[in-house]
Amino acid sequence: MTMKKNILEEAFPETLKILSDLIKFQTVSGTSNIKLIDYCEKKLGTLGANSFRTFDDKKLRANLFSTINGKQKVNGGGIILSGHTDVVPASVKDWTSNPYIADERDNKVFGRGSCDMKGFIACTLALAPYFAVENLKKPIHFSFTYDEETACQGAPIMIRELKKRKINCSICIVGEPTSMKAIQAHKGCYEYSTHFTGLAGHGSAPDKGVNAVEYATRFINKLMELREELKKREPKNSVFTPPYTTLQIGRIKGGLARNVIADQCVVDWELRPVVPEDGEFVNKSMEAYAKDILLPEMKKIYPKADIKKEIIGEIIGFNKEENSDAINLVCNLTGDNSRDVVSFGTEAGLFQEIGISTVVCGPGSIDQAHKIDEYVSFDQLKRCLKMLIDLRDQISN
Ligand SMILES: [Zn+2]
Repeated sequence: MTMKKNILEEAFPETLKILSDLIKFQTVSGTSNIKLIDYCEKKLGTLGANSFRTFDDKKLRANLFSTINGKQKVNGGGIILSGHTDVVPASVKDWTSNPYIADERDNKVFGRGSCDMKGFIACTLALAPYFAVENLKKPIHFSFTYDEETACQGAPIMIRELKKRKINCSICIVGEPTSMKAIQAHKGCYEYSTHFTGLAGHGSAPDKGVNAVEYATRFINKLMELREELKKREPKNSVFTPPYTTLQIGRIKGGLARNVIADQCVVDWELRPVVPEDGEFVNKSMEAYAKDILLPEMKKIYPKADIKKEIIGEIIGFNKEENSDAINLVCNLTGDNSRDVVSFGTEAGLFQEIGISTVVCGPGSIDQAHKIDEYVSFDQLKRCLKMLIDLRDQISN
């Protein structure tokens, strides 16, 4: 018991130091995270971790996957500690302190990413040395990805490589801020922009042009019809609120003036599927409606008229597993048996999709994520460290 307390006391100042280093890397989604990845790889490398990286097309951003085997080689069935390295932008002038310099006050660490989710990454790195010196029964893996905030762009590339290298893992803990509660499911989040191209003309002769705004309106009406259909498709025992797949139009942009036929219109819409089949249902129905009904009418007047769907991102849902090993493990470690669902998207569904039992649990509250003066409390960081120390004890001989 005293041993455990000592580790926590030793590791906590180190966690704060690492978190402060991580916050200094301005890893806003879409920009390079390579320096941060270098930092993490070096730290893990000195402990004997095996690492590999995967990249985006331009090699501007990287995912890091590192494995600590402990004192001897162990095969398979490892546990992944997963965090994304990117953060949402921060406007320096709106913050009380500089968002890219960790500021410790009132037993909290303020800084962009402190809560979402560099706090979790700092905890895992601070404890890595304690995993490395043990006789582990299964390996511990560190998965640090890029561009999660922009619809999980990095993780799928890393997960493909995991499959290719046949690295089989049993459990994944995604350390998104959940106030250290075990989260067992979230809906998917699919985001689209549909672009309409018509033919401009004088408002007095609507039949001579192709009005992109009007076709977009019909498209939206069809979406609204499907929204009602989705309610009827509500799965039995859904754990979500509302229990069915939702659909929403976020923005319409198009047209020039009252008396000009609009030749351009864009509709931004999103879908939050409770089951993947609903996503397929909506997408197939809308594609058929555009291709068989709207486009032939548009092209009769203007052959170059077009409707194009742009996929902004498709974060797959994280589904409740019956008797989930990952949930059981984390509830056991934290002593908190509340098994909740959340409304935000994470990388959890991607790990689950390749057969890894997954749970979302990490320090800090989602209420502080993406906000001005984002913070994580010392207490949350300590609770996370304690969970990971107990995890280490559980998988050590
Ligand atoms: Zn996050």
